[in-house]
Amino acid sequence: MLNENNPILKVKNISKVYAEDKNNIVNALNDVNFKIIKGEAFGLVGESGCGKSTLAQIIMNLILADKGEIIYIKDGKEINILSLKGKKMKALRKEIQFIFQDPYSSINPRKKIGWLIKEPLIIHKIGADDAQREKMVDEMLSSVGLDKNYKNRFPSELSGGQRQRVAIAIALILKPKFVICDEAVSALDVSVQAQILNLLRDMQKKMGLTYLFISHNLNVVSYISDRIAVMYLGEIVEMGNSETIFKNPLHPYTKALFSASVNINDEINPVILKGEPPSKAALTKGCVFASRCRYCSEKCLTEKPVLKEMDDNRKIACHLYNEY
Ligand code: ADP
Repeated sequence: MLNENNPILKVKNISKVYAEDKNNIVNALNDVNFKIIKGEAFGLVGESGCGKSTLAQIIMNLILADKGEIIYIKDGKEINILSLKGKKMKALRKEIQFIFQDPYSSINPRKKIGWLIKEPLIIHKIGADDAQREKMVDEMLSSVGLDKNYKNRFPSELSGGQRQRVAIAIALILKPKFVICDEAVSALDVSVQAQILNLLRDMQKKMGLTYLFISHNLNVVSYISDRIAVMYLGEIVEMGNSETIFKNPLHPYTKALFSASVNINDEINPVILKGEPPSKAALTKGCVFASRCRYCSEKCLTEKPVLKEMDDNRKIACHLYNEY
């Protein structure tokens, strides 16, 4: 049972602007707040370009935020990840791991699978000797559904699904507590996607993992997540239990995402998003979704809706639900 009072990560007031020059300013994230509960899979969903990867990289302390804190809770103690450097950050990386969309770009194609899975153990000085490390690699390969003979293969000799199993093995060999999956199944065929999602679920149960599961695909996110946050142009517009949102999406953007992914053939009442998201630079006031929203009113153009808690434990940022 998930305990709301037992978070593992708090994302607090995170904002990030990319400013290449005066004419090219992107508000990638605007005051993003949420908590991830220990043991849950928390899904972050939104169209490409809405700021998901920027947030993931900030959580990993790979890029700087302009504002805000990322608090990781370890043994009851709060650690502000963004203030960590050098050895302290390296030590925390054992606990927080990443699984990317395209493992081919994140793993060395010239190294064999056995070496790739063993490398984190060597870096973090885990295992008494090489024989023990080899044993750990064999066990991990078996956990992710690969025969130990795969140790002698190169990444190019594997299928996309098998490569993603190797990426999972590399991420999990250090026995992390918290894993960020950034579009981890997006490059795979639908049938292989399901196998990898099931593997991630099995590993979550077996190792007691917490996931931040990021994807543009609402079906994928809701398949694996206990709770979901829906992001549009760097802001969270709706957040709540996966089942609640799946059964009854409320924010016009969430409805449109569902319409696109679930009811693609529904000709009765499809809510289709038209056009591209507006330039982020232009958005200084009002609702981020106003320019594409079929319910847009005068107020939406001038006043930014805040995330409000509803009766069913979800939060929503939309003037349609202001009276609640
Ligand atoms: P997502 O992961 O949801 O596709 P990103 O976090 O990659 O979104 O990007 C969010 C926004 O920030 C996009 O408009 C993107 O073009 C912009 N962006 C991302 N990285 C950079 C960068 N290094 N420099 C300038 N703009 C960037």
